[in-house]
Amino acid sequence: MDFVGSHIISVDQFDRGDIDRLFEVADALAPFARRERITRVLQGAILSNMFFEPSTRTRVSFGCAFNLLGGDVRETTEVKSSALAKGESLHDTARVLSGYSDVIVMRHPEEGSVAEFATASRVPVINGGDGANEHPSQALLDLYTVRRELRARGRAIDGFRIAVVGDLRFGRAVHSLLKLLALFDQVTVHLVSPPGLETPDDVVAVLQDGGHAVEVYHDLGAGIHHVDILYVTRTQEERFASPEEADRYRGLFRVNQAIYTENCEPNTVIMHPLPRDSRAQAQELDDDLNTNPNLAIFRQTDNGVVVRMALFAMVLDVVDQVQDHARPVTWYTAKRTPSG
Ligand code: ASP
Repeated sequence: MDFVGSHIISVDQFDRGDIDRLFEVADALAPFARRERITRVLQGAILSNMFFEPSTRTRVSFGCAFNLLGGDVRETTEVKSSALAKGESLHDTARVLSGYSDVIVMRHPEEGSVAEFATASRVPVINGGDGANEHPSQALLDLYTVRRELRARGRAIDGFRIAVVGDLRFGRAVHSLLKLLALFDQVTVHLVSPPGLETPDDVVAVLQDGGHAVEVYHDLGAGIHHVDILYVTRTQEERFASPEEADRYRGLFRVNQAIYTENCEPNTVIMHPLPRDSRAQAQELDDDLNTNPNLAIFRQTDNGVVVRMALFAMVLDVVDQVQDHARPVTWYTAKRTPSG
């Protein structure tokens, strides 16, 4: 695909070459994310960050990524503080905001809403999550993390094995990630969920049509055997009809150090799109894993910044200019040391 000026709505837009190019740009931008260098390549550009659903990582890391390239960020974080609350359509909001900004990131609770918004926007729109449908930038940073973690263990994505655990029905991060994995060769995917929260058929079909091995499990221990990556997810309580319905699933699959030691191969990487539910009744990824060196969740969040910087640089066509506007950082920063 041509990234320049494009909306980024779904991972269906990418082929393997696109992913390779994006990750090359992300690697080149890492010194800027680590605060070794500073660039002002997007000085004067404005990002509208529109988040109509709760968000910490996606909202802040998109904002930081834009700032790190020298641009300014305007945020709207609630429907009630925008004119949508007065009955304004997505179409009109898009027409207006695209007059104020150079690029828009949008999260919205309805599936397909970001695509609808994008059709009326005069500037590129990046999907920050549309209901239970897709979360493309999360999948890209997850895949970037998978690639880095596997490489550090002398492995490649082709032929690797992953167990995806938890709410696979409503988890949009999982839907996007699984579709991206289908672009690689001979991946083995264990889909591990409670009955009732299985992966949608259309997502499974993408993997099967690509010739990948898909195994469905309803038992946690059996499902997490013989994999390189364990990708755990949260029960998406906001997508259930009531909190009581979500409670039926909460805490059914808890991964802790003892379960990990008993069932996983010693070097299995642990990932999670976050937030992990740390309430007593949930604890899907226990705190006792915090000292496990294979816990990659904070390397994953750090990777979110470079991958989102790469998306902006490619969509706004400044990849070749980043270094022209660069200089060393002069202030003290602990970020020069990679996080654990
Ligand atoms: N942060 C991710 C999302 O927005 C995962 C989650 O919320 O569970 O989809």
